[in-house]
Amino acid sequence: MEIKRIETDFLLIGSGIAALNFALRVIDKGNVLILTKKERTDANTNYAQGGIASVFDKEDSFKSHKEDTVRAGLGLSEEEAVDIMVREGPSRIKDIINWGVEFTEDKSSDLELWKEGGHSHRRIVHAGDFTGRAVEKGLISAIKSHPNIRIFEHHLAFEIIMANNSCYGVYALDVSTGEIIQVISKLTLLATGGAGQVYQHTSNPGVATGDGVAMAYNAGCRIADMEFFQFHPTTLYTPEPEERQFLISEAVRGEGGRLYDMDGNRFMEGIHPKMELAPRDVVARACDSVLKKRGDNYVYLDISHKDSNEIKNKFPNIYRECLKYSIDITKEPIPVVPAAHYMCGGVYTDLFGRTDIRGLLAAGEVAFTGVHGANRLASNSLLEALVFSARAGKEALDWMVGGVPVEDILPSTERITTIEESVLAVHTKKEIKQTMWDYVGIVRRDYLLNRAMRRFELYLEEIEELYRNSYLSQDIIELHSLITVAYLITRSALSRNESRGLHFNKDHPDENEQCKNHTIIRKEG
Ligand SMILES: Cc1cc2nc3c(=O)[nH]c(=O)nc-3n(C[C@H](O)[C@H](O)[C@H](O)COP(=O)(O)OP(=O)(O)OC[C@H]3O[C@@H](n4cnc5c(N)ncnc54)[C@H](O)[C@@H]3O)c2cc1C
Repeated sequence: MEIKRIETDFLLIGSGIAALNFALRVIDKGNVLILTKKERTDANTNYAQGGIASVFDKEDSFKSHKEDTVRAGLGLSEEEAVDIMVREGPSRIKDIINWGVEFTEDKSSDLELWKEGGHSHRRIVHAGDFTGRAVEKGLISAIKSHPNIRIFEHHLAFEIIMANNSCYGVYALDVSTGEIIQVISKLTLLATGGAGQVYQHTSNPGVATGDGVAMAYNAGCRIADMEFFQFHPTTLYTPEPEERQFLISEAVRGEGGRLYDMDGNRFMEGIHPKMELAPRDVVARACDSVLKKRGDNYVYLDISHKDSNEIKNKFPNIYRECLKYSIDITKEPIPVVPAAHYMCGGVYTDLFGRTDIRGLLAAGEVAFTGVHGANRLASNSLLEALVFSARAGKEALDWMVGGVPVEDILPSTERITTIEESVLAVHTKKEIKQTMWDYVGIVRRDYLLNRAMRRFELYLEEIEELYRNSYLSQDIIELHSLITVAYLITRSALSRNESRGLHFNKDHPDENEQCKNHTIIRKEG
């Protein structure tokens, strides 16, 4: 099979905040090639509503932001990484403002700061309630006219090119033509974002299939803390499955929204003194428990007792989106379901984004820096991506590889047979997502995790065979990533014999001091 070869100095996989911010740090030092799976704005970043947490208020302090973050992490946050994140945050935000990202300002032209759950001060820098879109737009405009940059849309990276325990780029599928290309680079950044698509219900767009984690794991990197997956308690339930669930923001509960089961019982009563305003993971668990006990598909979130004009003014976006499904939120309750939202674990990195493989960096949601510990504080993820992708950019030159005769690097497998794989891939994908939702979801039990593990071990073997032997398509590559991520989450969950933060196991309902460690998995052999 003839494979086209492309060469670049810096190869960036992804086009969310981490990749774009990194690109702007290295763009004057060499050629930059960005491979991205779909259109350039198809990224979790583009959907972020709330904002970026950082210390700008005079009353606020780094100490306080650090304390809030570490408190949320429940003993597993890496304090040095948190310290770096909170201290470097304001400067990194100023950098992107200088590059053209526009945030909402107050009357004195200072950044307007919102307050969110878990933060003891106002520190959420935002652009209305579509912060992510403003960040993507600003950063893409800043790089797009630079002579050193190329962006290949609809290019799906699927395998890291390895030689001498170093990374020399990736193999990628040109989704439009079905052609496989070999991209040789002196330095590769994985910035592929999260993996919400491994669950049946998710707020993440279709691109979030955990490809980066799968590629790094298969190349020999350590993967950490995959059991800590954050679920958002309230996303819009739709009878026909959608690629991603629309988020019904926390603000609706903040403004008086009440949660009911389908018989009209306000189920947060007796669960937490703050009722619907309890922490995100508590509300998500309560919804999940109602759904599991009753076998229902959704619970109700009701704000219709409030003045209808007030609702429309405060939540124009939510009002409009629900109307598309013939739900008038000023008159009736919204059917909601919790959904997988954020991957706290990922590819193990040091404080400069370096992975276990020379020439391979990782930043953003795909990376594990240790800041989130067992639970992520709202709006810390964009901040983490911003700070650590900038640090990775700073160290990039020292970490470059070179000198390998690239002609000698051949594909690790020859894909010669064509299997009629599409139906197989679609079917298995559904099963993985459903099994993850039912057995490895918000509330876990040992026997459910073991049941999931048995299935995933079998799938892993079967899908690996399909992946190695068939003509590669996007379906097969993503299925391969999803099963790898499902396996890693389940194995990590099984090894944590306690409940801590986002990992809740009914058979081990309390924290266990002996488990106060990160879960690290590396591929055998
Ligand atoms: C609905 C929603 C609301 C959120 N709100 C907030 C918020 O208010 N504040 C906050 O801090 N965080 C929020 N988050 C989380 C935050 O948006 C993400 O953690 C962050 O944007 C991740 O950035 P990233 O650059 O790491 O990845 P992403 O922005 O997800 O970008 C990943 C990129 O990689 C590409 N890609 C993936 N696989 C491949 C592959 N194999 N080959 C080529 N390209 C690939 C994707 O197409 C995409 O371009 C929210 C997330 C969601 C889904």
